Amino acid sequence: MANSAMSTTKPPHIALLPSAGMGHLMPYFRLAVMLAKRNCVVTLITAQPTVSAAESDHISSFLRHNPEINHLELQLTPSSQQTDSAPVDPFFLQFDLISQSIHLLGPLLSSSSLPLSAMFVDFGLLAKTAPIAKDLHLPIYAVSTTSVQFLSLMAYAPVLASNLTEFNTASTEIKIPGLPPMAMSSIPPALLDPSHIFTSIIVTNSQALPRAEGILMNTFEWFHESMLSALNKDRVIASLPPILPIGPLEPYHIPQDGDHFYRSWLENQPSESVVYISFGNRTAMSRDQVRELEKGLEKARWRFCWNLKTTKVDKDDHDDVEDILSDIFLKRTKNKGLIIRGWADQQEILAHPAIGGFVSHCGWNSIMEAAWQGVPVLAWPQHGDQKLNAKAVEEAGLGLWERDWDWGLDRIVKGEEIERKIVELMTDEKLRERARKVREEARKAVESGGSSDRVINNVINSVVVPF
Ligand code: UDP
Ligand code: UDP
Repeated sequence: MANSAMSTTKPPHIALLPSAGMGHLMPYFRLAVMLAKRNCVVTLITAQPTVSAAESDHISSFLRHNPEINHLELQLTPSSQQTDSAPVDPFFLQFDLISQSIHLLGPLLSSSSLPLSAMFVDFGLLAKTAPIAKDLHLPIYAVSTTSVQFLSLMAYAPVLASNLTEFNTASTEIKIPGLPPMAMSSIPPALLDPSHIFTSIIVTNSQALPRAEGILMNTFEWFHESMLSALNKDRVIASLPPILPIGPLEPYHIPQDGDHFYRSWLENQPSESVVYISFGNRTAMSRDQVRELEKGLEKARWRFCWNLKTTKVDKDDHDDVEDILSDIFLKRTKNKGLIIRGWADQQEILAHPAIGGFVSHCGWNSIMEAAWQGVPVLAWPQHGDQKLNAKAVEEAGLGLWERDWDWGLDRIVKGEEIERKIVELMTDEKLRERARKVREEARKAVESGGSSDRVINNVINSVVVPF
């Protein structure tokens, strides 16, 4: 929406810098479209090469369909760290690689014909980009792609890292003064290992947070009311700049050619009869867990749409459905279930009236998409920020979370347990009603004058350059 203040000012030119993985790219597409709609000039900077095929495909498609968005490519220098031994998560390696190539960013930005007004960068790149923004005299905003709960843990990570004897696996909770305690079982184990790449990314960048003007987050005031009040009003973590909830970032559909088989399948299912299962873009399900999920789905007797991934990186996923799922499961569920391999437009699926529930790993984008559509969630966190995200889902009343299921790698959840929870998800009318309320509040937040609309307008106004 155009802002009246902008008629006497130059449109701001904002550079957006995502990090690795679709979970960190998708929100930038949405942000870019949102800023362009509000009269901003937008330059999207993407690192080349990407880790997944989904990233490169979506970047080209996005730019093709949005010619008004400028594009710059940060060419990564191959990693000298890559070894044959210790397998490191390729997405984490990519974060690191982008950081190592960041010296190229200054010259790249200077090559842009229009002067810049601000930089919005992924939280994971803040420490390296803040000095560049300072040299260019630009305000910098961090973009955090997680829940406010996990953000506050990240902000507290330097304290944790320096007191690891105090906070160890024997502790039962972490108490950040002024915030509700966090169960130790919800803290990603890697965060207790100071040598882990995950921990070093988080500690280094959270130390840089005070250099940001604010932290843009894909969430909305209502969803995180008490946490936001403690952090923004009571300033319980004094070093933290304002948290700026600007979501849910409005779904942006990348037009895809042809008719998707899942679209026509969904069209033929009754309203709210299908449970959608997806663990996002970078979480593989083990074969043992696949077996149990088969049992659970069959016994639960609800229709299902299962986005099945068995490798972390999509390029490695070569197996056919028949290689992964048992013949008997496929035969028995032939008319009740749809298996998706490869990319599917999740927002479109969640928006379909046939969908009645979402079994999710609780990647934050997925959660905001469920909130936007008012689809009840069965939280099945697997790693990283996902248990704290699950807690946020539960607190907002958007879904159920069975804590006993633990982290993905630590426990194979049995078919009977899955069956029970799916039935609960699909039949709990109170939960469905509450999820509808979440949808209503999500939409109110982004409408003209809503909480998120006001926050993003203020950010734009603050970076606008007067004539
Ligand atoms: N996504 C999708 N189709 C897929 C897999 C993922 O549209 O087949 C989208 C999903 O809707 C979300 C993003 O990719 O916007 C994944 O981000 P999320 O934070 O949910 O999980 P992550 O992949 O980062 O673990
Ligand atoms: N994180 C980030 N940028 C990075 C690396 C990590 O913002 O470059 C933060 C982010 O909040 C993310 C969290 O670390 O949600 C957990 O990382 P993980 O890889 O588990 O999640 P994902 O990348 O799928 O969001």
